[in-house]
Amino acid sequence: MSQRKTIKVTYQKLGRSGAWGLSEGFGEIFVDEKLRGKKQFEIIIHEMLHELFPALEEKEVEQKAAIMTRTLWKEGFRKIDNHDKDKLQDE
Ligand SMILES: [Zn+2]
Repeated sequence: MSQRKTIKVTYQKLGRSGAWGLSEGFGEIFVDEKLRGKKQFEIIIHEMLHELFPALEEKEVEQKAAIMTRTLWKEGFRKIDNHDKDKLQDE
């Protein structure tokens, strides 16, 4: 029986490190909190590929992540932001 696994995505400031994302191989990836839309999508896929295929070279990860991003984006996949915890200006 296979075990269900999830890669945890943590958003944080990564500006200083010069990277958009980080993968350390322990089931959690870090994504720059400033990224939005298609670029955020690309970086999440990119870091997941590092987690799942640690032997892949950086260039291969970049190429494969870009192909997956373009294909899924073209197929209409988008993040829905349902965050509603912040009060509106009359609340
Ligand atoms: Zn990389």
